[in-house]
Amino acid sequence: MNNCDVCGNATFRRKQVEEVFNIEDHLVMVEGVPARGCDRCGDATFDRQTTESIRRMVHGVNRPTRHVNMDVLAFA
Ligand SMILES: [Zn+2]
Repeated sequence: MNNCDVCGNATFRRKQVEEVFNIEDHLVMVEGVPARGCDRCGDATFDRQTTESIRRMVHGVNRPTRHVNMDVLAFA
């Protein structure tokens, strides 16, 4: 899988992104996640090792470094 899932572009750059996960109504944001970002549309994907690290983090292995307040909007 070498092309972007969203736009089909084939050039990427490394970048860091933040992702929000909903763990049984407890929201967890992970910052500074290393990702492969599409040069054209910016879509970010993670490799398997990164995905596995995130899974461990959001299930409580790592203590939070800070807290944020977040409003939740339903798409309408
Ligand atoms: Zn793209």
